[in-house]
Amino acid sequence: MNRILPTAALALLTLGACGDNTATEAPAQPLAGAEEPAPVQLDAPAVTAVRETDPVDTAEDAADDPEIWVDPADPSRSVVIGTAKKSGLFTYGLDGKQIQFLPEGRLNNVDLRTMTVNGADTVVVGASDRDKKAVALFKLDAATRQVSALAERIPTGFTDPYGFCLYKSASGTLYAFMTDKEKNAAQWRIDLADGTATAAKVRDLTLATQSEGCVADDQTATVYFAEENVGIWSFPAEPDQPATATPIIKLADNARLAADLEGLAIYRGMTGNYLIASSQGNSSFAVFDLGGGYAYKGSFIIAKGAVDGVTETDGIEVVSAPLGVDFPGGLFVVQDGHNTDPDANQNFKLVSWDAIAKTLNLP
Ligand code: CA
Ligand code: CA
Ligand code: CA
Ligand code: CA
Ligand code: CA
Repeated sequence: MNRILPTAALALLTLGACGDNTATEAPAQPLAGAEEPAPVQLDAPAVTAVRETDPVDTAEDAADDPEIWVDPADPSRSVVIGTAKKSGLFTYGLDGKQIQFLPEGRLNNVDLRTMTVNGADTVVVGASDRDKKAVALFKLDAATRQVSALAERIPTGFTDPYGFCLYKSASGTLYAFMTDKEKNAAQWRIDLADGTATAAKVRDLTLATQSEGCVADDQTATVYFAEENVGIWSFPAEPDQPATATPIIKLADNARLAADLEGLAIYRGMTGNYLIASSQGNSSFAVFDLGGGYAYKGSFIIAKGAVDGVTETDGIEVVSAPLGVDFPGGLFVVQDGHNTDPDANQNFKLVSWDAIAKTLNLP
Protein backbone atom coordinates (compact mmCIF):
# COMPACT_ATOMS: atom_id res chain seq x y z
CA MET A 1 0.00 0.00 0.00
CA ASN A 2 1.03 3.58 -0.49
CA ARG A 3 1.51 5.64 2.63
CA ILE A 4 1.38 8.92 0.79
CA LEU A 5 -0.43 11.63 2.72
CA PRO A 6 -3.43 12.81 0.72
CA THR A 7 -3.35 16.44 -0.38
CA ALA A 8 -6.51 17.20 1.61
CA ALA A 9 -4.82 16.07 4.83
CA LEU A 10 -1.81 18.26 4.22
CA ALA A 11 -4.12 21.21 3.61
CA LEU A 12 -6.03 20.55 6.83
CA LEU A 13 -2.85 20.21 8.89
CA THR A 14 -1.48 23.40 7.39
CA LEU A 15 -4.69 25.30 8.09
CA GLY A 16 -4.81 23.98 11.65
CA ALA A 17 -1.23 24.98 12.39
CA CYS A 18 -1.68 28.47 10.92
CA GLY A 19 -4.87 29.04 12.87
CA ASP A 20 -3.28 28.08 16.19
CA ASN A 21 -0.24 30.27 15.66
CA THR A 22 -2.31 33.28 14.65
CA ALA A 23 -4.65 32.98 17.62
CA THR A 24 -1.98 32.63 20.29
CA GLU A 25 0.87 34.56 18.62
CA ALA A 26 3.09 31.92 20.19
CA PRO A 27 6.25 30.78 18.45
CA ALA A 28 5.70 27.77 16.23
CA GLN A 29 6.07 24.56 18.19
CA PRO A 30 6.95 21.28 16.53
CA LEU A 31 3.87 19.08 16.46
CA ALA A 32 4.17 16.02 18.65
CA GLY A 33 4.77 13.05 16.39
CA ALA A 34 4.93 15.39 13.43
CA GLU A 35 7.15 12.95 11.54
CA GLU A 36 4.06 10.77 11.06
CA PRO A 37 0.87 12.81 10.65
CA ALA A 38 -2.34 11.42 12.11
CA PRO A 39 -4.34 9.32 9.66
CA VAL A 40 -7.14 11.11 7.84
CA GLN A 41 -10.60 9.86 8.78
CA LEU A 42 -13.91 10.43 7.01
CA ASP A 43 -16.67 12.19 8.96
CA ALA A 44 -19.00 9.19 8.99
CA PRO A 45 -21.14 7.16 11.42
CA ALA A 46 -19.00 5.09 13.78
CA VAL A 47 -19.10 1.59 15.15
CA THR A 48 -16.65 0.16 17.68
CA ALA A 49 -14.81 -3.15 17.67
CA VAL A 50 -15.87 -5.83 20.14
CA ARG A 51 -12.24 -6.87 20.58
CA GLU A 52 -8.86 -7.15 18.89
CA THR A 53 -6.48 -9.98 18.13
CA ASP A 54 -3.04 -10.46 19.62
CA PRO A 55 -0.43 -8.41 17.72
CA VAL A 56 1.61 -9.90 14.89
CA ASP A 57 5.31 -10.68 15.42
CA THR A 58 6.80 -7.93 13.25
CA ALA A 59 6.85 -4.14 13.53
CA GLU A 60 5.50 -1.30 11.39
CA ASP A 61 3.19 -2.13 8.46
CA ALA A 62 3.08 -5.90 8.94
CA ALA A 63 -0.43 -7.29 9.36
CA ASP A 64 -2.34 -7.27 6.11
CA ASP A 65 -5.31 -9.42 5.20
CA PRO A 66 -7.79 -11.42 7.31
CA GLU A 67 -9.97 -14.43 6.62
CA ILE A 68 -12.65 -16.17 8.69
CA TRP A 69 -13.36 -19.90 9.00
CA VAL A 70 -16.85 -20.58 10.34
CA ASP A 71 -17.04 -23.86 12.26
CA PRO A 72 -20.38 -25.26 11.07
CA ALA A 73 -20.59 -27.60 14.06
CA ASP A 74 -19.76 -25.05 16.77
CA PRO A 75 -19.60 -21.41 15.58
CA SER A 76 -17.89 -20.35 18.83
CA ARG A 77 -14.84 -22.34 17.65
CA SER A 78 -14.54 -20.29 14.46
CA VAL A 79 -11.08 -19.07 13.48
CA VAL A 80 -9.75 -15.73 12.27
CA ILE A 81 -6.74 -16.11 9.96
CA GLY A 82 -4.48 -13.15 9.25
CA THR A 83 -1.42 -12.58 7.12
CA ALA A 84 1.70 -11.03 8.62
CA LYS A 85 3.15 -9.86 5.33
CA LYS A 86 6.77 -9.98 6.50
CA SER A 87 6.65 -13.36 8.24
CA GLY A 88 3.73 -15.71 7.65
CA LEU A 89 0.26 -16.59 8.82
CA PHE A 90 -1.42 -16.20 12.21
CA THR A 91 -4.63 -17.84 13.41
CA TYR A 92 -6.78 -16.61 16.30
CA GLY A 93 -9.88 -17.70 18.15
CA LEU A 94 -12.92 -15.41 18.36
CA ASP A 95 -11.45 -14.33 21.72
CA GLY A 96 -8.61 -12.74 19.72
CA LYS A 97 -6.00 -15.02 21.25
CA GLN A 98 -3.39 -16.51 18.95
CA ILE A 99 -3.87 -20.18 18.17
CA GLN A 100 -1.00 -20.71 15.76
CA PHE A 101 1.79 -18.97 13.86
CA LEU A 102 3.07 -20.45 10.61
CA PRO A 103 6.46 -18.88 9.69
CA GLU A 104 5.83 -19.33 5.98
CA GLY A 105 7.43 -16.11 4.69
CA ARG A 106 5.89 -13.04 3.08
CA LEU A 107 2.30 -14.18 2.66
CA ASN A 108 0.35 -11.11 1.57
CA ASN A 109 -3.35 -11.91 1.14
CA VAL A 110 -5.34 -14.94 2.32
CA ASP A 111 -8.70 -16.52 1.45
CA LEU A 112 -10.45 -19.85 2.08
CA ARG A 113 -13.16 -22.15 0.76
CA THR A 114 -14.55 -25.41 2.10
CA MET A 115 -14.36 -28.05 -0.64
CA THR A 116 -15.64 -31.62 -0.86
CA VAL A 117 -12.86 -34.12 -1.52
CA ASN A 118 -13.80 -37.80 -1.64
CA GLY A 119 -17.03 -37.05 0.20
CA ALA A 120 -15.37 -35.19 3.06
CA ASP A 121 -14.97 -31.46 3.76
CA THR A 122 -11.53 -29.98 3.20
CA VAL A 123 -11.03 -26.38 4.34
CA VAL A 124 -8.58 -24.95 1.80
CA VAL A 125 -6.66 -21.82 2.84
CA GLY A 126 -4.78 -20.03 0.04
CA ALA A 127 -2.37 -17.12 0.10
CA SER A 128 -0.12 -15.07 -2.18
CA ASP A 129 3.56 -15.76 -1.38
CA ARG A 130 5.82 -12.84 -2.33
CA ASP A 131 9.01 -14.71 -1.34
CA LYS A 132 8.46 -17.77 -3.51
CA LYS A 133 6.38 -15.85 -6.09
CA ALA A 134 3.75 -18.52 -5.71
CA VAL A 135 0.32 -19.55 -4.56
CA ALA A 136 0.58 -21.09 -1.08
CA LEU A 137 -2.05 -23.68 -0.17
CA PHE A 138 -2.86 -24.91 3.34
CA LYS A 139 -5.66 -26.88 4.97
CA LEU A 140 -7.41 -26.16 8.24
CA ASP A 141 -8.30 -29.20 10.34
CA ALA A 142 -11.79 -28.64 11.71
CA ALA A 143 -11.22 -30.93 14.69
CA THR A 144 -7.96 -29.40 15.91
CA ARG A 145 -8.22 -25.94 14.26
CA GLN A 146 -4.60 -26.41 13.15
CA VAL A 147 -3.44 -25.18 9.74
CA SER A 148 -0.86 -27.20 7.79
CA ALA A 149 0.54 -27.38 4.26
CA LEU A 150 -1.72 -28.83 1.57
CA ALA A 151 0.65 -28.64 -1.40
CA GLU A 152 4.03 -27.51 -2.61
CA ARG A 153 4.11 -23.85 -3.63
CA ILE A 154 2.47 -23.26 -7.02
CA PRO A 155 4.67 -21.07 -9.24
CA THR A 156 2.89 -18.07 -10.75
CA GLY A 157 5.43 -16.55 -13.13
CA PHE A 158 4.75 -13.19 -11.48
CA THR A 159 7.77 -11.10 -10.47
CA ASP A 160 5.93 -9.77 -7.44
CA PRO A 161 2.68 -11.51 -6.41
CA TYR A 162 0.32 -9.29 -4.44
CA GLY A 163 -3.48 -9.66 -4.13
CA PHE A 164 -5.20 -13.04 -3.81
CA CYS A 165 -8.67 -14.53 -3.63
CA LEU A 166 -10.41 -17.86 -4.16
CA TYR A 167 -13.55 -18.73 -6.16
CA LYS A 168 -15.66 -21.90 -5.83
CA SER A 169 -17.75 -22.47 -8.92
CA ALA A 170 -21.30 -23.86 -8.93
CA SER A 171 -19.87 -27.14 -10.22
CA GLY A 172 -17.61 -27.38 -7.16
CA THR A 173 -14.32 -26.45 -8.83
CA LEU A 174 -11.83 -24.29 -6.92
CA TYR A 175 -10.00 -21.40 -8.60
CA ALA A 176 -7.39 -18.93 -7.36
CA PHE A 177 -6.98 -15.35 -8.58
CA MET A 178 -3.79 -13.38 -8.03
CA THR A 179 -2.63 -9.87 -8.91
CA ASP A 180 0.94 -8.59 -9.05
CA LYS A 181 2.47 -5.19 -8.24
CA GLU A 182 2.14 -4.12 -11.89
CA LYS A 183 -1.27 -4.47 -13.52
CA ASN A 184 -1.46 -8.18 -14.15
CA ALA A 185 -3.86 -10.76 -12.78
CA ALA A 186 -4.31 -14.43 -13.54
CA GLN A 187 -6.55 -17.36 -12.63
CA TRP A 188 -5.56 -20.91 -11.72
CA ARG A 189 -7.71 -24.02 -11.36
CA ILE A 190 -6.86 -25.86 -8.14
CA ASP A 191 -7.30 -29.64 -8.42
CA LEU A 192 -7.68 -31.31 -5.06
CA ALA A 193 -6.84 -34.94 -4.52
CA ASP A 194 -6.60 -36.93 -1.31
CA GLY A 195 -4.54 -34.72 1.01
CA THR A 196 -2.81 -32.68 -1.68
CA ALA A 197 -3.44 -30.29 -4.56
CA THR A 198 -2.10 -29.27 -7.96
CA ALA A 199 -2.86 -26.24 -10.07
CA ALA A 200 -3.10 -25.20 -13.70
CA LYS A 201 -3.22 -21.64 -15.00
CA VAL A 202 -6.42 -21.09 -16.96
CA ARG A 203 -6.55 -17.40 -17.81
CA ASP A 204 -4.76 -14.04 -17.76
CA LEU A 205 -6.63 -10.89 -16.76
CA THR A 206 -5.37 -7.34 -17.18
CA LEU A 207 -6.02 -4.24 -15.09
CA ALA A 208 -4.84 -0.73 -15.87
CA THR A 209 -2.81 -0.03 -12.69
CA GLN A 210 -1.80 -1.67 -9.39
CA SER A 211 -4.58 -3.70 -7.78
CA GLU A 212 -4.53 -5.72 -4.59
CA GLY A 213 -7.92 -6.28 -2.97
CA CYS A 214 -10.00 -8.93 -4.65
CA VAL A 215 -13.01 -11.07 -3.79
CA ALA A 216 -15.09 -13.60 -5.70
CA ASP A 217 -18.86 -13.89 -5.37
CA ASP A 218 -19.52 -17.62 -5.76
CA GLN A 219 -23.29 -17.00 -6.05
CA THR A 220 -23.02 -14.87 -9.17
CA ALA A 221 -19.71 -16.22 -10.58
CA THR A 222 -18.18 -12.74 -10.47
CA VAL A 223 -14.76 -11.63 -9.27
CA TYR A 224 -14.05 -8.08 -8.13
CA PHE A 225 -10.71 -6.27 -8.10
CA ALA A 226 -9.92 -2.95 -6.40
CA GLU A 227 -7.60 -0.88 -8.56
CA GLU A 228 -6.09 1.19 -5.77
CA ASN A 229 -6.24 4.64 -7.35
CA VAL A 230 -9.14 4.12 -9.75
CA GLY A 231 -12.04 1.99 -8.53
CA ILE A 232 -13.57 -1.47 -8.46
CA TRP A 233 -13.90 -3.69 -11.53
CA SER A 234 -15.80 -6.91 -12.07
CA PHE A 235 -14.94 -9.84 -14.32
CA PRO A 236 -16.89 -13.04 -15.01
CA ALA A 237 -15.19 -15.60 -12.75
CA GLU A 238 -15.67 -18.63 -15.01
CA PRO A 239 -12.52 -19.19 -17.07
CA ASP A 240 -14.41 -19.84 -20.31
CA GLN A 241 -15.94 -16.36 -20.13
CA PRO A 242 -14.30 -13.29 -21.72
CA ALA A 243 -11.72 -11.58 -19.48
CA THR A 244 -13.55 -8.28 -19.85
CA ALA A 245 -13.41 -5.77 -17.01
CA THR A 246 -16.57 -3.84 -16.16
CA PRO A 247 -16.19 -0.70 -14.03
CA ILE A 248 -18.70 -0.79 -11.18
CA ILE A 249 -17.44 1.80 -8.67
CA LYS A 250 -15.21 4.74 -9.55
CA LEU A 251 -13.28 6.75 -6.97
CA ALA A 252 -13.88 9.87 -9.05
CA ASP A 253 -17.68 9.47 -8.74
CA ASN A 254 -17.88 9.22 -4.93
CA ALA A 255 -16.30 11.94 -2.77
CA ARG A 256 -16.54 9.68 0.29
CA LEU A 257 -14.02 7.25 -1.18
CA ALA A 258 -10.29 8.01 -0.93
CA ALA A 259 -7.39 6.10 -2.48
CA ASP A 260 -6.02 3.61 -1.88
CA LEU A 261 -9.00 1.34 -2.33
CA GLU A 262 -7.77 -1.79 -0.54
CA GLY A 263 -9.54 -4.85 0.83
CA LEU A 264 -12.86 -6.10 -0.56
CA ALA A 265 -15.37 -8.43 1.12
CA ILE A 266 -18.83 -9.79 0.35
CA TYR A 267 -21.63 -10.09 2.91
CA ARG A 268 -24.45 -12.45 1.95
CA GLY A 269 -27.27 -12.47 4.50
CA MET A 270 -30.96 -13.16 4.83
CA THR A 271 -31.90 -9.51 4.34
CA GLY A 272 -29.28 -8.17 1.97
CA ASN A 273 -26.11 -8.77 -0.01
CA TYR A 274 -23.30 -6.22 0.08
CA LEU A 275 -19.87 -5.51 -1.34
CA ILE A 276 -17.67 -3.76 1.24
CA ALA A 277 -14.47 -1.87 0.42
CA SER A 278 -11.69 -0.46 2.59
CA SER A 279 -11.27 3.21 1.68
CA GLN A 280 -7.77 3.43 3.12
CA GLY A 281 -7.13 7.08 2.29
CA ASN A 282 -9.82 8.23 4.73
CA SER A 283 -9.86 5.24 7.12
CA SER A 284 -13.45 4.26 6.35
CA PHE A 285 -15.43 1.37 4.93
CA ALA A 286 -17.92 1.77 2.07
CA VAL A 287 -20.92 -0.53 1.60
CA PHE A 288 -22.52 -1.19 -1.81
CA ASP A 289 -25.71 -3.14 -2.54
CA LEU A 290 -24.84 -6.26 -4.56
CA GLY A 291 -28.46 -6.73 -5.50
CA GLY A 292 -29.13 -3.16 -6.55
CA GLY A 293 -26.71 -2.10 -9.23
CA TYR A 294 -23.99 -1.54 -6.63
CA ALA A 295 -25.95 1.33 -5.05
CA TYR A 296 -23.88 3.09 -2.38
CA LYS A 297 -25.43 2.34 1.02
CA GLY A 298 -23.06 4.51 3.05
CA SER A 299 -19.71 4.53 4.80
CA PHE A 300 -18.73 3.93 8.40
CA ILE A 301 -15.62 4.24 10.55
CA ILE A 302 -14.44 2.10 13.48
CA ALA A 303 -13.89 4.39 16.46
CA LYS A 304 -12.22 3.80 19.83
CA GLY A 305 -14.37 1.76 22.18
CA ALA A 306 -13.40 -1.31 24.19
CA VAL A 307 -10.22 -1.29 22.07
CA ASP A 308 -8.52 1.36 19.93
CA GLY A 309 -10.14 2.58 16.72
CA VAL A 310 -9.15 1.53 13.22
CA THR A 311 -7.22 3.53 10.63
CA GLU A 312 -5.52 2.95 7.27
CA THR A 313 -6.91 -0.55 6.81
CA ASP A 314 -5.54 -2.95 4.22
CA GLY A 315 -7.48 -6.23 4.13
CA ILE A 316 -11.02 -6.95 5.37
CA GLU A 317 -13.31 -9.99 5.63
CA VAL A 318 -16.92 -10.56 6.62
CA VAL A 319 -19.25 -13.51 7.26
CA SER A 320 -23.00 -13.44 7.89
CA ALA A 321 -23.13 -16.64 9.96
CA PRO A 322 -24.17 -16.07 13.58
CA LEU A 323 -21.05 -16.58 15.71
CA GLY A 324 -22.47 -16.38 19.22
CA VAL A 325 -23.60 -13.59 21.51
CA ASP A 326 -20.86 -11.17 20.45
CA PHE A 327 -21.48 -11.57 16.72
CA PRO A 328 -25.12 -12.68 16.32
CA GLY A 329 -25.49 -11.26 12.80
CA GLY A 330 -22.02 -12.12 11.60
CA LEU A 331 -18.45 -10.90 11.95
CA PHE A 332 -16.48 -8.17 10.16
CA VAL A 333 -12.68 -8.39 10.61
CA VAL A 334 -10.24 -5.66 9.55
CA GLN A 335 -6.51 -5.05 9.65
CA ASP A 336 -5.69 -1.96 11.74
CA GLY A 337 -2.83 0.28 10.61
CA HIS A 338 -2.00 1.54 14.12
CA ASN A 339 -2.52 -0.73 17.13
CA THR A 340 -2.52 1.54 20.19
CA ASP A 341 -3.72 1.52 23.82
CA PRO A 342 -1.00 0.38 24.38
CA ASP A 343 1.29 0.87 21.36
CA ALA A 344 2.05 -2.53 19.88
CA ASN A 345 2.64 -4.31 16.58
CA GLN A 346 -0.34 -4.25 14.20
CA ASN A 347 -3.32 -6.53 14.64
CA PHE A 348 -6.87 -7.20 13.51
CA LYS A 349 -10.10 -5.83 14.95
CA LEU A 350 -13.36 -7.84 15.30
CA VAL A 351 -16.62 -5.95 14.71
CA SER A 352 -20.19 -7.21 15.05
CA TRP A 353 -22.10 -7.01 11.75
CA ASP A 354 -25.22 -6.02 13.66
CA ALA A 355 -23.50 -2.79 14.74
CA ILE A 356 -22.70 -1.97 11.11
CA ALA A 357 -26.24 -2.78 9.91
CA LYS A 358 -27.74 -0.62 12.67
CA THR A 359 -25.38 2.29 12.01
CA LEU A 360 -26.09 2.33 8.26
CA ASN A 361 -29.81 1.47 8.64
CA LEU A 362 -29.39 -1.69 6.60
CA PRO A 363 -32.34 -4.08 6.82
CA1 CA B 1 -2.06 -0.35 -1.57
CA1 CA C 1 -8.89 -12.27 2.65
CA1 CA D 1 -5.90 1.50 15.87
CA1 CA E 1 -2.36 -5.27 1.54
CA1 CA F 1 -4.96 -2.16 20.73
